[in-house]
Amino acid sequence: MPKVMNWQIGREMDYPYEGKRPQSQFAMIIDTNKCISCQTCTVACKTTWTSSRGQEYMFWNNVETKPYGFYPLGWDVNILSRHGVQDISGPVYQGKTLFESAPDGSMVLGYLPEDVDYAHPNISEDDSIGQLAQGAFLQMPHMQWMYYLPRICNHCTYPACLASCPRQSIYKRPEDGIVLIDQERCRGYRECVRGCPYKKPFFNSITRTSEKCVGCYPAVEQGRQTQCTMTCIGKIRLQGFISPPGQENESNPIDYLVRIAKIAKPLYPQFGLEPNVYYIPPIHVPSPFLKQMFGADVELAQQTYRKAADDKQLLAALLLFGASPSILSGFRHQDGQAIGLDKKGEELVRVPFKEPIFVRPGFDEQFQTHRSNAT
Ligand code: SF4
Ligand code: SF4
Ligand code: SF4
Repeated sequence: MPKVMNWQIGREMDYPYEGKRPQSQFAMIIDTNKCISCQTCTVACKTTWTSSRGQEYMFWNNVETKPYGFYPLGWDVNILSRHGVQDISGPVYQGKTLFESAPDGSMVLGYLPEDVDYAHPNISEDDSIGQLAQGAFLQMPHMQWMYYLPRICNHCTYPACLASCPRQSIYKRPEDGIVLIDQERCRGYRECVRGCPYKKPFFNSITRTSEKCVGCYPAVEQGRQTQCTMTCIGKIRLQGFISPPGQENESNPIDYLVRIAKIAKPLYPQFGLEPNVYYIPPIHVPSPFLKQMFGADVELAQQTYRKAADDKQLLAALLLFGASPSILSGFRHQDGQAIGLDKKGEELVRVPFKEPIFVRPGFDEQFQTHRSNAT
């Protein structure tokens, strides 16, 4: 099997195809500290892409309440228990990836969910004690905490869906790294559903093909951010492009947050897919739980985030989340404002570090009435 370099695990690994990075790679950053699980992103994707027959159960974007929520049921617990306890303590991953753990005859270690696993898209929403999972109200295996984890396809650098497909129906676009399933070639063998550890391909029983998040490519081709990013109520997402490892551009907000500030982390990097959705971890959650989910240096990311108000560059990058419908290729700050830039360095948007506050008198003289909200 060819060897490819995976920067997220700090070493080379086995992958069924030669490593060839796209010219630019679709990426997204999600700030879990700000998600309110309003599911606007879920509905925006659903109404845009999956409102046809056979797509009823599909949520290319979903938002889970961790640690007890999953869609499909138990997807991460399931693959983690098959993968076994792995050493993720240092910058160079010592354990095995899912490609390296594949049983004979398979490209990747995976499993196929059952139909019933898709029956409860938002199980355990807002459940911080595992009431549904454990069937008992007062059992508390840990302190009460929870957080929301929005999920889309990670448009992985080394997609397990692509590696698993026996018909080579899945391809990664060289121009932007978006991973797509060719609906003409697909015969619905569901090997991608089995192979993707994130369970982001879905089988359509009407068309008899598998489908997945398309990275909103028609928007991205026009320089616009994806539907799930643009509609996000909490402004918790930033979508753009990440540079190849070693070619970081510190004025690109995605490169800056992932590679320079190191505040945004991939989901389960130990699987070895080099996923390109990056999460700012929740600062209130104990790090041992987060470490197995986001990698070894999650504590540093939490500390950096806590001090973001003192770091103008970091603050500027964070303030640009949800600030513009266009993809931001650059950013800077000036006079207490974060400034988002396009590919040519032209200004797209400005966000003040501090929003002005206007205090109005409690009594409106013109209409002779009291105001209930004076600010
Ligand atoms: S729209 Fe934004 S805040 Fe609402 S659930 Fe989705 S990611 Fe979270
Ligand atoms: S998240 Fe899954 S479906 Fe998406 S590219 Fe990676 S392996 Fe494929
Ligand atoms: S990128 Fe587009 S297709 Fe993918 S989950 Fe978001 S809205 Fe849906």
